[in-house]
Amino acid sequence: MSFEILGLAPALLRALDEQGYASPTPVQAAAIPPALEGRDLLAGAQTGTGKTAAFALPLLQRLYVADPKSAQPKCPRALVLTPTRELAAQVHANVRDYGKHVRVRATTIFGGVGMQPQVDALRRGVDILIATPGRLIDHIQQRSVDLSQVEVLVLDEADRMLDMGFLPAIKRILAQLPRQQRITWLFSATFAPEIKALAHEFMRAPLEIQVAKPNSVATTVSHRVHPVDAAHKRDLLLHLLESDASQTLVFGRTKHGADKLAKLLDKAGLRAAAIHGNKSQNQRTRALADFKSGKINVLVATDIAARGLDIDQLPRVINHDLPMVAEDYVHRIGRTGRAGATGLAISLVCHEEEGLLRDIRRLLKQDIEIVPVAGFEPAQPLRTDDGARARPQQKPPAARQNTATPRHGHAAKTAAPGKSASRKRRRSRAGLHSTQSR
Ligand code: AMP
Repeated sequence: MSFEILGLAPALLRALDEQGYASPTPVQAAAIPPALEGRDLLAGAQTGTGKTAAFALPLLQRLYVADPKSAQPKCPRALVLTPTRELAAQVHANVRDYGKHVRVRATTIFGGVGMQPQVDALRRGVDILIATPGRLIDHIQQRSVDLSQVEVLVLDEADRMLDMGFLPAIKRILAQLPRQQRITWLFSATFAPEIKALAHEFMRAPLEIQVAKPNSVATTVSHRVHPVDAAHKRDLLLHLLESDASQTLVFGRTKHGADKLAKLLDKAGLRAAAIHGNKSQNQRTRALADFKSGKINVLVATDIAARGLDIDQLPRVINHDLPMVAEDYVHRIGRTGRAGATGLAISLVCHEEEGLLRDIRRLLKQDIEIVPVAGFEPAQPLRTDDGARARPQQKPPAARQNTATPRHGHAAKTAAPGKSASRKRRRSRAGLHSTQSR
């Protein structure tokens, strides 16, 4: 299928061609035609499915191509709400790319940066406002924004906005928008009951679109668990990053942990940086730009900060820690395997995280290979009682064992013959046949 049959204007088709988009993704094919007709949409699509273009293209067409006379913006005619600053910046970048050949004035409004430049931009006039709810409320309070002319509202990653406690802010914002003649497009990875309630309260007979099963991940992603003791996770991470130089996004659970990991990796010469909520907007933007340009090879992120990161062809995500909520695994893994590319999702899992791993396997309804890495086998193997699949036994490559053992102090200890033999016995009692990591 080509973009032409969706009814998009030549100026937008040209921009898509320049982006190298040959055909629409499923969410684009399903959402663009009804969106162009002015229907309200309730779209179930996770990040990485091309959902941004699914709303940005009809938005651009509606506001500018179909109505070029109104190209003198004053008050915003479209509002896109996103959960995080990064996602807002990403949506803005995409709107600029897709709207390259139409007159478009878009701006972002989010916290962590000064209010005044945003006030100035609003005063100059803007067509599309892309905002996080908290900072938009600040502008509403100080009357620096007028939302009375908004024709189209987009709620992007609505489930995450609700998870982050933005429901009261969203309701306050909705109260500022015209109720009549307004079009609303809600995008969400999952349709929790609160999302449905929000939709029914504020939308007009929305068309429901579901392109991927809720809580599913791209089929092009391979999942792998490396069992390891908590105390040896960092050494194993270092080992994995040193043995394969692919660009990698590493997830830690806390801001402090992410910082410590990034420092450790940087010290080891791996060109790493951290991205989390305590970093200034400038630091976050720089870290992301450096990662995208390849200046740094490893980005260590927390769940919140990683929301909305759009990195083309990211080959590998490593979970240094499993997320506390299984759904976050899906969001994390959404960074790899995008737009049909293959990806690898590795999780370093210690005995204490068995429960979290079980939740993830249940959510994915999918086997996850458990692959011990030579020299890093945990004292207590992970249980594989509900679906995890261990690879058939293979002899470890001697060379890898040699490199792993001396490099990491603890490895010699865990690889001691007596312990190793008893570990093997324990493992075979648990029915887990392990192999070594390639
Ligand atoms: P999104 O889900 O909007 O974050 O998009 C995920 C990635 O897919 C981004 O890198 C987009 O640039 C890319 N993308 C979106 N639509 C298409 C398309 N039709 N063809 C190829 N890549 C696309």
